Amino acid sequence: MNVDAVVKQSSNPFISAQRQLRNAVDRLGLDEAVYEILKEPARVAVVSIPVRMDDGSVKVFTGYRSQHTVATGPAKGGIRFHPGVTLDEVKALSMWMTFKCAVMELPFGGGKGGVVCNPKALSRGELERLSRGYVRAIAPIIGPERDIPAPDVYTDAQVMAWMMDEYCQLVGADAPGVITGKPLVLGGSAGRHEATARGCAIAARETARYQGWDLRGATAVIQGFGNAGSIGARLLHEMGVRIIAVSDSTGNAYNPQGMDPGAIAEHKRRTGSVRGFPGSEEVPDSEFLTLECDILLPAALENQITADNARDIRARLIVEAANGPTTPDADPILFERGVTVVPDILANAGGVTVSYFEWVQNLTRTYWTEDEVNQRLEQSIVRACRRVLDIGRQHGVNLREAAYMAALERVAAALRARGWI
Ligand code: NAD
Repeated sequence: MNVDAVVKQSSNPFISAQRQLRNAVDRLGLDEAVYEILKEPARVAVVSIPVRMDDGSVKVFTGYRSQHTVATGPAKGGIRFHPGVTLDEVKALSMWMTFKCAVMELPFGGGKGGVVCNPKALSRGELERLSRGYVRAIAPIIGPERDIPAPDVYTDAQVMAWMMDEYCQLVGADAPGVITGKPLVLGGSAGRHEATARGCAIAARETARYQGWDLRGATAVIQGFGNAGSIGARLLHEMGVRIIAVSDSTGNAYNPQGMDPGAIAEHKRRTGSVRGFPGSEEVPDSEFLTLECDILLPAALENQITADNARDIRARLIVEAANGPTTPDADPILFERGVTVVPDILANAGGVTVSYFEWVQNLTRTYWTEDEVNQRLEQSIVRACRRVLDIGRQHGVNLREAAYMAALERVAAALRARGWI
């Protein structure tokens, strides 16, 4: 194999996902059949979607839907519209969804979908026709009892509404439970917008409590002031945390005295950036993640904490709001240095948990208040955190390994109960 192939293979997310599965199966001493069943998705659809463009031409887009397992329930996972979507990425993301749902004890298997496209270059009409075309193509394998998609990168509540409508027209029935992340008026859930950030804040509080320290008076650095980061900052601030630094794609704002996240959001709305927030200074990009703080909340991109900067991280706790912000080679360095990492499959699982609540509300046709949603979310995150923290302590492993172990134990139990192994 040449060097390019080796590099390509090591950055292939599906190979990383298979490695994580291998490690967890070995650590738990599970039957080899568990690895054999889960190492590839149970089903993958590759579809061609012809779309009439505004100029009258027809363009054919490629889409994927991967159902990693349905042993633990119908597949569940988002749909990504992005030029960089690949089959291996979709397969990897569907495997991670299996683990995310299992660690939260949700009655779902893992799924993921994607369409290779640049949504920013599509008109609203083209985006709608593509969304509807994708659903027509995968309709035979989705449904409230089969596979329930949701939003992901560059898909939103409007895209979910078009997709749900297309599905309902195809089956000739009202079926809001086919998709989650819908607008409220079409059966979306109260509290969904804040759910991911709320899960992160609760996970931070529970982990600190377990370790015997209190969030009140602690300091936090937030990378990425978007949906997860800005709401996460507000909720942590409400818990008594001092927000000392925030960043977005244009720069950052640092003030060791602490800043009001509401005022930062207002400043960003006005100026388009967190930079220049009154009373703050800007630190060089390369120093942002290594600022001294109690809690670091990476809420932007993957691969931010690497073997290159892990030794310089001065946070006590990293709560992964983003998916994959820490590389596998950074994990052992952080663990050795006593930095606790609450892994993405647990830290940002608030989103899929409230998606589950949305599906339950759709199937039962009863709708909960935001308070009810938040209370149930709180219970789910606290329960999952305590289980993972206990496994971490018992086995002397980092919380990522502990979360994979908790998840895989549940999936293996389902495989056993079904008689598949
Ligand atoms: P978003 O687009 O609302 O926010 C992303 C933010 O990151 C933006 O403010 C952007 O300016 C900033 N950013 C981009 N590049 C940056 C850089 N180099 N340095 C600093 N900031 C940078 O997205 P989001 O929904 O908040 O998602 C953020 C992360 O959380 C993603 O990894 C996403 O997969 C993950 N996540 C989100 C949800 C959810 O429900 N929103 C659920 C699970 C996981």
